[in-house]
Amino acid sequence: MKITLFWHRRDLRLHDNAGLAAALQSGYPVVPLFIYDREILDLLPSRRDARVTFIYDQVERLGQETAQAGGNFLAFYGRPLGVFEQLLTQYEVAAIYTNEDYEPYAAERDTAVAALAQRHSATFQALKDQVIFAKNELLGKSGKPARTFGSYRKAWLEKLQDSDLQPHPSKELFTAERLARLPEAPARPTLAAMGFEEFRQEVPANELPAEALVRNYHLTRNTPGRVDSSTRRSVHLRFGTLSVRELMRQAQALNPKLLAELIWRDYFMMLLWHYPITATESFEPRLRQVPYRNNEAEFTAWCEGRTGYPLVDAGMRELNATGYLPNRARIAAAGFLVKHLLIDWRWGDRYFADKLLDYDMSQNVGNWQWMAGIGVVAAPWFRVYSPQSQLESYDPDYTYVKRWVPEFGTATYPAPIVDHKFARQRAIDTLRAAYRAAAE
Ligand SMILES: Cc1cc2nc3c(=O)[nH]c(=O)nc-3n(C[C@H](O)[C@H](O)[C@H](O)COP(=O)(O)OP(=O)(O)OC[C@H]3O[C@@H](n4cnc5c(N)ncnc54)[C@H](O)[C@@H]3O)c2cc1C
Repeated sequence: MKITLFWHRRDLRLHDNAGLAAALQSGYPVVPLFIYDREILDLLPSRRDARVTFIYDQVERLGQETAQAGGNFLAFYGRPLGVFEQLLTQYEVAAIYTNEDYEPYAAERDTAVAALAQRHSATFQALKDQVIFAKNELLGKSGKPARTFGSYRKAWLEKLQDSDLQPHPSKELFTAERLARLPEAPARPTLAAMGFEEFRQEVPANELPAEALVRNYHLTRNTPGRVDSSTRRSVHLRFGTLSVRELMRQAQALNPKLLAELIWRDYFMMLLWHYPITATESFEPRLRQVPYRNNEAEFTAWCEGRTGYPLVDAGMRELNATGYLPNRARIAAAGFLVKHLLIDWRWGDRYFADKLLDYDMSQNVGNWQWMAGIGVVAAPWFRVYSPQSQLESYDPDYTYVKRWVPEFGTATYPAPIVDHKFARQRAIDTLRAAYRAAAE
């Protein structure tokens, strides 16, 4: 029996899934699968990782949904090339379908899997699913990605057709006739068998946010004290438990500001695909020599939320406790690290990568480089936000701060780790010198 394999990665859902819909129309019965990739998992600093448990729960849900529909869902713990070598030898595979992934490791991995498939006379098809426009679909007049978000967004909105946001009929096609029933399907690995502990952090339901929240989004998004200040759907977009098209349709109908934020997401994914070097290096080569101070004690104080700046500390404590922090607190924390403390943006990027439930390389790198003023798209290097003014603007009655920093206002709360005025001037002097040297 010839079969088609469908490889889930960042698309852990049956509905509105471009690659899955295409696989189900390939003419061969489909076996969906997931690989717990040791190339990624072995690098995690802890065996107690909420993202791994989240993925595990979704894979088990997909397993149940596939069984109910009359098929087999496979899951493996290993390295993709080894897993596919085994599958391509064991079964008569006509094609491997999947959805595109734009991270540097993923692009390399997929090229290798496509070559392996070809050696076994199978085709490898990757479809666009997690963004609206990918790769070279939306370049500037120079033939390169736009360097300002404003021009990217304008071009994005001009190019958008209704069909770009239409759902793919994967759920409708997911029926017993189109699914393969394997005589001996291997058992899926458990978390314990992979050496991970169960660790669940709270996430919102994987459904569209309430209409009222979306309507008010532009008014509430900068108030971290409100739990419903923003959609909190980033984790679902990260793992594809929600389709970006459905959230975009809702935003398009109800709130242009939310649509603009989602366009940022497309933009950063495109930028990482074009400039994979930015995963670890500043975009601007001449700005790779900024003399960061990299004081380890100050970095530890930042990580633990003990800087003496309440908005920064509240954010870092929320991150440590929940795996989430609101955008405004991300901006305050990141700006403080790279400007006030003059610590390399990569230290902060790494810390967020270890802690954020919604961690996404393209979004994290893009935003950190923007904050540090050294990215493809960058905030002005001389902009050094005052954490105190930010607090007064965004958390004027200290709701957020009191929730996460209960000792705020008492003698036990630390004094500021550095004086704002002094740190601001130091950042400006250092970055001005770096920019001047870069221009020579
Ligand atoms: C230093 C820093 C690091 C960040 N790291 C990540 C990360 O690893 N993963 C991640 O998903 N987001 C990251 N962001 C972007 C943003 O903070 C989060 O997407 C957002 O806070 C998630 O909450 P939400 O879903 O309620 O967002 P909402 O405000 O409800 O926005 C809806 C969606 O729009 C997108 N979006 C919103 N703001 C941004 C933004 N600034 N850039 C790109 N997309 C955006 C997200 O997909 C988000 O889920 C980072 C921002 C900063 C400043």
